Amino acid sequence: MAINLDSDDFTLGIIGAGAMGRGIVQVAAAGGLRVKLFDVNAEQSKNAVDFVAKMLGRAAEKGQMSETDAATAITRIQVIETTQGFSDCQIVIEAATENPDIKNNIYQNLEGLMAEDAIIATNTSSLSITTLASPLKNPERFVGMHFFNPVPLMRLVEVIDGVRTDPCVGDALMELGRRMTREPVRCNDSPGFLVNQVGRGYNIEAAHIHSEQVADIPDLDLILSEGAGFRMGPFTLLDLTGLDVTHPATELIYRQFYEEPRYRPNVMMRARMEAGMLGRKTKRGFYDYSSGKQDFPEEAPYPEYDGRPVWISREEADGHAVLTEIVSKIGGNLETGDSPGNNALILVTPIGDDVTTTAVAQGLDPARTLGVDTLVGLATRRTIMTNPATEPAYRDAAHGLLTGDGVKATVIRDCPGFICQRIVSTICNIGCQIAQFGTAEPEDIDKAVVLGLNYPNGPLTFGDKLGPKNVLRILEACQHIYGDPRYRPSPWLRRRAELELSLFDKEI
Ligand code: NAD
Repeated sequence: MAINLDSDDFTLGIIGAGAMGRGIVQVAAAGGLRVKLFDVNAEQSKNAVDFVAKMLGRAAEKGQMSETDAATAITRIQVIETTQGFSDCQIVIEAATENPDIKNNIYQNLEGLMAEDAIIATNTSSLSITTLASPLKNPERFVGMHFFNPVPLMRLVEVIDGVRTDPCVGDALMELGRRMTREPVRCNDSPGFLVNQVGRGYNIEAAHIHSEQVADIPDLDLILSEGAGFRMGPFTLLDLTGLDVTHPATELIYRQFYEEPRYRPNVMMRARMEAGMLGRKTKRGFYDYSSGKQDFPEEAPYPEYDGRPVWISREEADGHAVLTEIVSKIGGNLETGDSPGNNALILVTPIGDDVTTTAVAQGLDPARTLGVDTLVGLATRRTIMTNPATEPAYRDAAHGLLTGDGVKATVIRDCPGFICQRIVSTICNIGCQIAQFGTAEPEDIDKAVVLGLNYPNGPLTFGDKLGPKNVLRILEACQHIYGDPRYRPSPWLRRRAELELSLFDKEI
């Protein structure tokens, strides 16, 4: 199949002029491609062209392109009134309503009028490329081309090979993506492709943690945004996207993976969706928006440190060292003996384990023992963890002490992996499993997640930064404490952690 995007007769077809179709039209025309657009609703096509003209005009006003280029781009767009107009297109991208029957009818029709070797691509976000291709006479020419919303702002595009897709078809679409000034990444067909699969790790794990009453919703949002560097806390993000979008997608991916525990949805999310607390769009979600903005609560003032002695466990050498340095700088009353004095505040720095397990294993008085996450957030927002026996005075002493240098800190209840350790490890584990399945190259997994989800790191970089051995320990501790296969480490992670390799290292 030789598709020449530079040939004078190359024309890209786009079916569906909704939110996605119009965005794809815009980036294609701006990228210099001639485009034919069709929608069953002719009014939609007209609105789409007006919308694209406005967007290109705005881009010219902002100096992102010249006025001449914007005006020329608009002339490249042709609205067609019947699908017959696609007969001379070498590639058609379908961005019609997410319904398999509608899509199958479209492909059957296209097969009847396009050339034998012309490519049919779909922008579906949840349907299997292989399944959609299966009724086609020529499934080798069928491929996924998954753009993100809003298309002009989201540079990522996933190019997805179905089981029978001819590799040259995906190659042609990678080139097409680049011509549209996108950042294409290649992957094999898999539920949720790359981005939507990895995206299950963040919100859902946060919802599981909240369901266990470990922390309030605003606290979880603050810890993950300020502590771990996510642009938005998981619940703020869920409110923005809408539970009616996120929860059904989660249920679908979980089912498509034959109920893989790593993707298990959260009961609270379904309940809140059914209660109509969808997020910003219904003015009520995890936060209230009735005033027009998010009612994010003010943080309560921190308690004062009362000067009591502080003893830091040496069990984790790195955690001990870094916490000792902080407490010394703050001017905490450090005890340096081998065991804590009678009234000392006891700080432990577990990796993966909860405070209960750590205190019992180390023979420490649980009433005076609190955990501090020394792996994530120490410089930006600290996480301090109690256990069911913790006395309030010791909790307050730890909170006062660890905010004594102006860094914020949040107290949570006992939880394996605190919050950041656990969520980052969950995301990393999903990325590792995608690598293990060969769905995409390690670099592409990270690239897709950074561009598509705006995470501060891709899953494998997160793991390398935390240390693969630490991630393995965190997941094993979660699996041990919960007895839940959800946390079982991917063999990709385990092998690289045990061999002290980077998570990007591939086997020959
Ligand atoms: P939309 O509802 O905004 O637009 C769909 C358009 O398809 C409508 O204009 C409709 O008239 C048209 N249509 C329906 N049947 C048609 C047919 N037989 N022939 C031609 N046009 C037809 O939907 P959307 O959000 O643009 O989504 C389109 C596709 O993109 C879906 O497959 C969706 O899963 C996928 N997608 C959506 C998003 C998103 O955030 N909205 C992101 C990525 C992918």
